[in-house]
Amino acid sequence: MIAQSDTAAETHSTANKELLLRIRNLSVNYTTRRGMLGAVDNVNLDLYRGEVLGLVGESGCGKSTLGKAIMRMIPPPGRIDTGELHFNGADLMAVPERTMREIRGSRISMIFQDPMTSLNPVQRIDRHIIEAIRVHKTAMSVAEANEMAERLIERLGIGKRRLRDYPHQLSGGMRQRVMIGLALALKADLIIADEPTTSLDVIVEAQFLDLLRELKDDFNLTILLITHNIGVVAELCDRVGVMYAGRLAEVADVESLFLDPQHPYTQGLLNSVPNIKLDGGELYRMAGQPPNLINPPSGCRFHPRCPHAMARCSQAEPSWMELKPGHSTACWLYEEQIDK
Ligand code: SF4
Repeated sequence: MIAQSDTAAETHSTANKELLLRIRNLSVNYTTRRGMLGAVDNVNLDLYRGEVLGLVGESGCGKSTLGKAIMRMIPPPGRIDTGELHFNGADLMAVPERTMREIRGSRISMIFQDPMTSLNPVQRIDRHIIEAIRVHKTAMSVAEANEMAERLIERLGIGKRRLRDYPHQLSGGMRQRVMIGLALALKADLIIADEPTTSLDVIVEAQFLDLLRELKDDFNLTILLITHNIGVVAELCDRVGVMYAGRLAEVADVESLFLDPQHPYTQGLLNSVPNIKLDGGELYRMAGQPPNLINPPSGCRFHPRCPHAMARCSQAEPSWMELKPGHSTACWLYEEQIDK
């Protein structure tokens, strides 16, 4: 049964899970010389403890901006204009910057495409991990913390002698493992991983994803995985949010999204992925380009590219609909079904 819903979050499949992050009506804008650019527009999303939620979409759709907004790390001339961010009981929009720095340092970890941006280049790996361990275990001696760092790095598949190395002496894959290790040492409630495998070759990427899957189960990790790589989503995620032009287009359990995508943009995105069934056939190519977010299309922002667009699509924004338990989208096609 199709039901109207006010958020992407209220789904039956998540009914008994612990809510960790609640995003409501979040909008992020940038002031540019050509006008205001709406990078994230009125996004509602929930994240539950222990799940991996993938956020996918083309470049510039707002997925990385949303990740930074959760950390309140939008650089000027950008700003969060409206919205609520509730994390583990804390109102992130209301807490002072000092508290936010503590949350960033210990409760939410962010992993970027290039880990060198987060690691101190003149500090050895052991110092990074020991400092992270002692954030929570302040009474622990350096020797005990060092032993713990050795166990941790070996769990990440890196020999403990590499603890003496500086970040530049490790490979890209090892540095990403160290970033995960820091999040584990900090006992972070949430890991936001922004394109963590983009700079890795396919073999190292596969090893990293295997490790992440193992650690997710062993440590009950909660991960927001931002990626343009649909294959990575299929490998790792429990649920997926699809973003288009700053808005959420569809949210579903990973299986439901891949087997039965409902939003025309999601369908186009999945059809554009090379697969073995093609057997030499031509790959599907979505018509048009993502819109300029300074002056986005009216109504449904996908309407200039949508093969199913109707007159009303350019006139008004479709509301959020729960099509089946755990699977929601915003598209006039489904409102039409309710109207009948
Ligand atoms: Fe296409 Fe209209 Fe649905 Fe937008 S609302 S995805 S234009 S059918």
